[in-house]
Amino acid sequence: MNETAGTGAAVIYPWLDGHWSFFMRRINDDRLAHALLIQGPSGCGKNALADAMAARLLCCESEAQACGKCRSCKLLEGQAHPDYFRLHPEDDSVVIKVDQVRDMIGKLDLTTSISFRKVALIQPADAMNGASANALLKSLEEPSGDTVLILVTDNPGSLPVTIRSRCQTISVSQPGDEVALEWLKDSSGRPAGEVSEALQAAGGSPLRAAHYLASPELDAYKQVRDGLSILLGRPAAVSMFSHQLNQLNPVDLWRWLSMCTGDVIKSLMTGSPVNWLPADVQLGDKALLKLQRQADENRRLSATQVRGELLLQDWLIRWAEQII
Ligand SMILES: [Zn+2]
Repeated sequence: MNETAGTGAAVIYPWLDGHWSFFMRRINDDRLAHALLIQGPSGCGKNALADAMAARLLCCESEAQACGKCRSCKLLEGQAHPDYFRLHPEDDSVVIKVDQVRDMIGKLDLTTSISFRKVALIQPADAMNGASANALLKSLEEPSGDTVLILVTDNPGSLPVTIRSRCQTISVSQPGDEVALEWLKDSSGRPAGEVSEALQAAGGSPLRAAHYLASPELDAYKQVRDGLSILLGRPAAVSMFSHQLNQLNPVDLWRWLSMCTGDVIKSLMTGSPVNWLPADVQLGDKALLKLQRQADENRRLSATQVRGELLLQDWLIRWAEQII
């Protein structure tokens, strides 16, 4: 799933109101930093927040949010704003290359065309390699007066300290379930039960849950969950089940396997039942943490490797053996 990226109508999700107020106070007090680093887990609205900030900084009219009507807003919507730059990995690359950064810095040195400021969005900032980050550092050390850089990342730890220390950090976190459920109910119009299931499948991420509600992927999550329940004590069914699951998006699949394992670990710790397992099932806890770690590791690897059905089979066999 991708968070809303690029330009377009600005969305301030309710759980980001505080961050927006902070940003507006800084603008009104003329104390906005030249570089902002928006960080936090995936699916919480960081990109939408960055887009709204960029639009507001460029808008020629608005006091509160970008007006959506002025020349700047229209150009931004049409992805043709001459004072707006967005850096992201191009073509099939996963890296923001040094030439892209240098090219952008060259343009930032020019005077503005339409807006009072120039805005550069770097998304995801952790896609910069060492050379790219070094090239950007110069801009951060000697910012031009009318430029604001907005860096967005799920993974701030992978950015050089020299970059992070020169940015004003805005840490976005996942909203509480109550806030997320209310927003999902209002925005999707779906019944509370479905919304709650989607949020569970999304591990608490409201935007991922919204995506699940609008796609068949919630059914895929249920397929994983129900399959895990059936597999317990039936290792012979692993082969058929792994073949089915191997058709799913591997990143989602491993996230769900990790989450389901996490549900069981939590249940063993708290004594509360897992709502998708038979009430009388008894599981050991020794290998579960290891299984969860393995699922997380496989999720990270799945972005770069070919799908590993053997890895999946191995994992499922060990899951099937969890029953006491
Ligand atoms: Zn405007």
